[in-house]
Amino acid sequence: MADQYEVLRTVFGYETFRGDQEEIVAQVIGGGDAVVLMPTGGGKSLCYQIPALVRDGCAIVVSPLIALMADQVGALQQLGVRAAYLNSTQSFEQRIAVEEAYLTGELDLLYVAPERLSQPQTREFLSRGTLSLIAIDEAHCVSQWGHDFRPDYLALGDLAQLWPDVPRIALTATATDRTHREITERLHLGGARHFVASFDRPNISYRIEPKDRPQQQLLEFIRAEGFDDGVPLTGIVYALSRKSVEKIAKFLCANGIDAMPYHAGFDAQTREDTLRRFLREDGVVVVATIAFGMGIDKPDVRFVAHLDLPKSVEGYYQETGRAGRDGLPSVAWMAYGLADVVQQRRLIDSSDGDQAHRMAQGRLLDSMFALCETATCRRVQLLRYFGQEIAPCGNCDTCLRPPATWDGTVAAQKVLSTVWRLDREFGGQRYGAGHLVDILVGKTNARIEQFGHDRLSTYGIGTELDQAGWRGVIRQLIAQGLLAPRGEYGVLALTEDSRAVLSGERTVTFREETQRIRSGSSGRPK
Ligand code: ADP
Ligand code: ZN
Repeated sequence: MADQYEVLRTVFGYETFRGDQEEIVAQVIGGGDAVVLMPTGGGKSLCYQIPALVRDGCAIVVSPLIALMADQVGALQQLGVRAAYLNSTQSFEQRIAVEEAYLTGELDLLYVAPERLSQPQTREFLSRGTLSLIAIDEAHCVSQWGHDFRPDYLALGDLAQLWPDVPRIALTATATDRTHREITERLHLGGARHFVASFDRPNISYRIEPKDRPQQQLLEFIRAEGFDDGVPLTGIVYALSRKSVEKIAKFLCANGIDAMPYHAGFDAQTREDTLRRFLREDGVVVVATIAFGMGIDKPDVRFVAHLDLPKSVEGYYQETGRAGRDGLPSVAWMAYGLADVVQQRRLIDSSDGDQAHRMAQGRLLDSMFALCETATCRRVQLLRYFGQEIAPCGNCDTCLRPPATWDGTVAAQKVLSTVWRLDREFGGQRYGAGHLVDILVGKTNARIEQFGHDRLSTYGIGTELDQAGWRGVIRQLIAQGLLAPRGEYGVLALTEDSRAVLSGERTVTFREETQRIRSGSSGRPK
């Protein structure tokens, strides 16, 4: 049987492994479990595809991206790999043929939708063949508080007991501590080796500016950045609604940019044509909803622009990560406004699902907004979100043109001492941002009266800002690691660093817009 180096070369046509691939592959071939956190484009697929070809039996690949399964399997078959998939898009005959091939040992990889793998009959059927390994792709879908939760992923936890001798590898491009923990716990990967790749994309320059006249700003950005010696560059523009996608594409075309709209409302043929032009030609700009991009591998995308705020930092990172996969300089540009946040919060509040889930989504949105409002290096802030520390990059907008700031030390002290007093004087109870704001501005309501929080010495001391202003301050404190949201309900707790602010040893700086936005009326910082 061929070893992993031979498979890498002869099947996939690559000379060397990248990053942690070599160690991950060895771990799984050796029969051990692995948890892999690697950014999009990092090369996760080979981490299970190569062990699947080296080990005896057939590998099961769990993936929620049913729409992409046929493509993924097709690409493998082109390389001569014996791969197939089982999902709800197939006819009965197709399914029977795949099952036959599996049972007679003619498959090396079998892609399966998660809902199928939670069914007893599928498990019983798979047990009749020989499993080489189980790969759980997009493993962050197991995280209940993440942006992609799939209930079927929870059932994948018992695979550990069902097939104790089959190595399992969980992979994701989401690297927050919390997701990492949840993957490990819920998928019972306590004995696994963990591989955490750096999420830094040094060739991407991050720029985020307040939204004023969005289309005009976008056009100016593309005119300034989107050409190389007069030759247009390939880019993706993301917007939230289908309507704005079409409007923006039309606007760009009218201004001499070769732009094409893309969203799920177009028929399959049109979408395919758009995709083909984007992949094959240079200088095409696709204006799209986030439906565009999953699994698209074009190395020379030079810019990704956002005209609406993504719902989470994970989403932002994933979408901007489609720029510059070839390692050459690229730009991630975004225009944001308070109105975006207000609109998305309204959507969250009116969405189905329980209170805890809405709170979690609100927190994801807050982190995204905090990234927009940061007065420090965007890249530092972005990577800190994923639990990684780096030095200021010197290449993002805040590094290149430090924004106007204000000294928020006193405001920060007011918030932090309120949290501290609540904790000390009211027996370890903790509260969320809304309640803290009510105390600071001296609001009277049932909760405050019931708890007697109007007796706190910080009650009503925050008259210099209004409620939106204080919320901005709290968001920034969270972003700077001076307050930590805990648990499902987003109660706020002090961190190790808060103490230095309370004792006056450390000052706190906020971006000017945080203060201006406080009036909330125009929602448009200048
Ligand atoms: P991910 O799933 O992490 O987003 P992929 O597995 O799709 O990433 O890989 C991204 C790209 O990198 C693909 O085009 C893949 O062929 C390429 N790639 C992966 N590993 C290697 C390697 N060792 N050498 C060269 N190219 C690689
Ligand atoms: Zn920077």
